[in-house]
Amino acid sequence: MALLQVDSAAHAAEITRFDKFVVRGPGAGACWIWCGALADDGYGRFWLNRNGVHRVVRPNRYALALAQHLTLGDGDVAMHDVCDLPLCVRAEAIGGHIVLGTQSDNLTRMGRTGRGGDAGTRGIGTGPTAPHAPPAPEHCVTPSATAGTTKRCEKR
Ligand SMILES: [Zn+2]
Repeated sequence: MALLQVDSAAHAAEITRFDKFVVRGPGAGACWIWCGALADDGYGRFWLNRNGVHRVVRPNRYALALAQHLTLGDGDVAMHDVCDLPLCVRAEAIGGHIVLGTQSDNLTRMGRTGRGGDAGTRGIGTGPTAPHAPPAPEHCVTPSATAGTTKRCEKR
């Protein structure tokens, strides 16, 4: 893949187009959410046409190259460092949510946050390894603190 570079003068029209897809959340530290095209990997897609050559990039990479005047190569990864939100494109050098890392940085980070690869282990388990919830009691009710009674169990 070619290097990704965004020049504020040469690519002004492209940057304007990119900007239209970005919603900047309220508040100083809020995420900036990509509202353009999405792909099934959870990341956005932004199409470029540079001198007649079409290519597609992830918006978070584009945002990083733009905001920090970086040239991103294949080994460079735009990592979410603050919010872990794939659609966040906030990449300013100060206060941004995206940092430049390498592929191995990213894998280390994904391992730490439990992201990537083994999606079945995240969140509330619904897979075959999810622990079964204890069966709900069929006829017992929780003793009421206000009832003033010692009765703990009653038929309904
Ligand atoms: Zn964010």
